[in-house]
Amino acid sequence: MKIYLDGALVDSADAKISVFDHGLLYGDGVFEGIRLYGGNVFRLEEHLERLEYSAKAILLTLPWTRKQLSDAVCDTCRANGLTDAYIRLVVTRGVGDLGLSPWLCKVPSIFIIADKIALYPAKYYVEGLEIATVATRRMNPSALSPAIKSLNYLNNILAKIEARQAGVLEAIMLNDQGFVAECTGDNIFIVHKGRIYTPAAQQGALKGITRDAVFDIARELAVPMEEHDLTRYDVWNADEVFLSGTGAEVIPVVKVDGRVIGTGQPGPVFARVLESFRRRVLTEGTRI
Ligand code: PMP
Repeated sequence: MKIYLDGALVDSADAKISVFDHGLLYGDGVFEGIRLYGGNVFRLEEHLERLEYSAKAILLTLPWTRKQLSDAVCDTCRANGLTDAYIRLVVTRGVGDLGLSPWLCKVPSIFIIADKIALYPAKYYVEGLEIATVATRRMNPSALSPAIKSLNYLNNILAKIEARQAGVLEAIMLNDQGFVAECTGDNIFIVHKGRIYTPAAQQGALKGITRDAVFDIARELAVPMEEHDLTRYDVWNADEVFLSGTGAEVIPVVKVDGRVIGTGQPGPVFARVLESFRRRVLTEGTRI
């Protein structure tokens, strides 16, 4: 497997970063998870824009143009002969002496991995997932904005551990006011009386690229959709619940905190969203 590392495609065995890299030492860096579908990098421009926003938010100047980043992603896919893959693009603060200051690091590092990923077993796309609310709250935006896709994922990892301990595959994370924020690696949506609702970014949701696609799909399907504060009560009493994320795509949820959602089967609105999503992933984006 070829890995893109600081301007060159190298064998995975040679793709190494320094123990003095601040991405490793302090989680000082940003990343994107991107998908390649049938030779099409889904919404690559939008992912690169979010990467630029994340970098700007942590005062990390990217020394690459949008075009250079886009070419690097496509080159990595081509070099590995891939037409379908999960792509992980990581930018770290770079190598520097010990100490938190980012000014210790002169040049950021970049690496791109293009590989396979299967987040949830296939049967859950048909049968639906069971999820549960966990105690770990989503980070308060005044401490660290959840909109920044940074290398600090411990908040989500702790929630993921709790989900696993509760015997489910994904967790609902609330914000510090008790409103639903999102899941550990996915955005959440409810369908109620024919309308789709999802928490706003201000409530602790990442502005998911797949979430944006769901907004476009809702428009296409003429299903009203809006950002709305959601409580656990709203989720329990929804007609349908589903999640979205680059890894998860769109996946139905049929049980939350022991409450059966709707009929206990993936619902009709979800089915239409899924159908449109599967069509869009092949065309919306950048051909490699
Ligand atoms: N929330 C979190 C915390 C995430 O890490 C992700 C990405 N895996 C998402 C939501 C979904 O975002 P996207 O659709 O851009 O993958």
